[in-house]
Amino acid sequence: MRVAMIGSGYVGLVSGACFADFGHVVACIDKDPAKIAALERGEIPIYEPGLSELVAKNMREGRLTFATDLTEAVRGADAVFIAVGTPSRRGDGHADLSYVYQAAREIAAVMDGYTVVVTKSTVPVGTGDEVERILRETRPGANFAVVSNPEFLREGAAISDFKRPDRIVIGTDDPRAREVMAEIYRPLYLNQAPLLFTGRRTAEVIKYAGNAFLATKITFINEIADLCEQVGADVQEVARGIGLDNRIGAKFLHAGPGFGGSCFPKDTLALIKTAQDAGTPVRIVETVAAVNDQRKRAMARKVIAACGGTVRGKTVAVLGLTFKPNTDDMREAPSLSIITALQDVGASVKAYDPEGMTQAKTLLDGVTYCTDAYACVEGADALVIVTEWDAFRALDLDRVKRLLKTPVVVDLRNIYRPEDMTKRGFTYVGVGRGRAP
Ligand code: NAD
Repeated sequence: MRVAMIGSGYVGLVSGACFADFGHVVACIDKDPAKIAALERGEIPIYEPGLSELVAKNMREGRLTFATDLTEAVRGADAVFIAVGTPSRRGDGHADLSYVYQAAREIAAVMDGYTVVVTKSTVPVGTGDEVERILRETRPGANFAVVSNPEFLREGAAISDFKRPDRIVIGTDDPRAREVMAEIYRPLYLNQAPLLFTGRRTAEVIKYAGNAFLATKITFINEIADLCEQVGADVQEVARGIGLDNRIGAKFLHAGPGFGGSCFPKDTLALIKTAQDAGTPVRIVETVAAVNDQRKRAMARKVIAACGGTVRGKTVAVLGLTFKPNTDDMREAPSLSIITALQDVGASVKAYDPEGMTQAKTLLDGVTYCTDAYACVEGADALVIVTEWDAFRALDLDRVKRLLKTPVVVDLRNIYRPEDMTKRGFTYVGVGRGRAP
């Protein structure tokens, strides 16, 4: 099959490279000429494990090409995927669909023969109808179908998620489009990937409902963690105790500094707005968003308390800046709110992240960036672990203690054990690990 991927960011590039690896012929398009030039030189603009090798292999074998202009790719394509950004609209939190609609207009102008236009971007319910209207208005009489195929990959594990998905959701009522989509995903069929065909609007709702549910699970355990701190219980054991119940499941039950990233914050907000507009507010999700918002700055208060009530004039070392490990994505990372809140009350901040510092530098002012974890903690009054990169899981703790001015560790990901840390002479604070009175 011939595939055109419009937008070559985290989702477009991973999806395009994986489709090419299945044997399809894929053209990845992006408006950003610097991004396309880098990709053509074999440089990957984002950090995603395994992606560089996958892109190189499929370019070499002639199945993956890049371009800024979509004309040629769309003309020959069986399916054109829209994988452009849908950020929160400034001011009201609705999804900003301007990139999607712009892509639709550009596709409409050049599409040729029967074309399946697929929204892979996360878009509010009804967007497929609007894309269809734009295509029809721009090219009356053209032969096409608009399909919703939301993407569920996670940054940091994107390739294996894409190649071994829990499910593939395809929203369309058009039998011919269904056949094209089944053919595109056929290589996964052999691995028994469950293909779920639904109506287009249903597919659009599935994506938001899924993300909102996961965000709710995280927020739920975070509130239980706060309770544990007050009553002398351990949230890690509580999470295990409830997670072993198959009806609940163990995933997304890690207490921490609150969810961030390019999806959960904007997608919960967009769902809230859609539901309000429909006259059926999703009050649980509204609460989740509000609780999570407050949590990030509350984490800064945790650091201040661990430092004896003030950080004015003190230096705080922050390990981990990205919203999770194995990505360089800084969008809505908890580190942004935590660091800003600490700076607001007079702390100096040093930071180190294995992959996120280039992006962080564009978002955070006044931070001293370090070359490794040990340079970061040297001379600091406290260490705060914000992202659980593997490199921080087995630090030389004796060295960390020698380098810190005062041995205070605030571990917002619970990667160390309170008893071990206390035995080593640290003042250690985790999340939700209260001491029995
Ligand atoms: P991104 O910002 O990394 O990439 C979007 C790309 O689209 C950019 O490179 C931009 O230059 C390009 N673009 C915009 N308009 C264009 C146009 N008209 N023609 C060609 N290129 C254009 O975004 P992303 O993280 O890949 O997310 C894309 C969509 O997928 C969003 O709707 C997001 O919610 C959804 N999604 C993201 C993830 C994730 O983990 N990042 C997971 C699932 C779904």
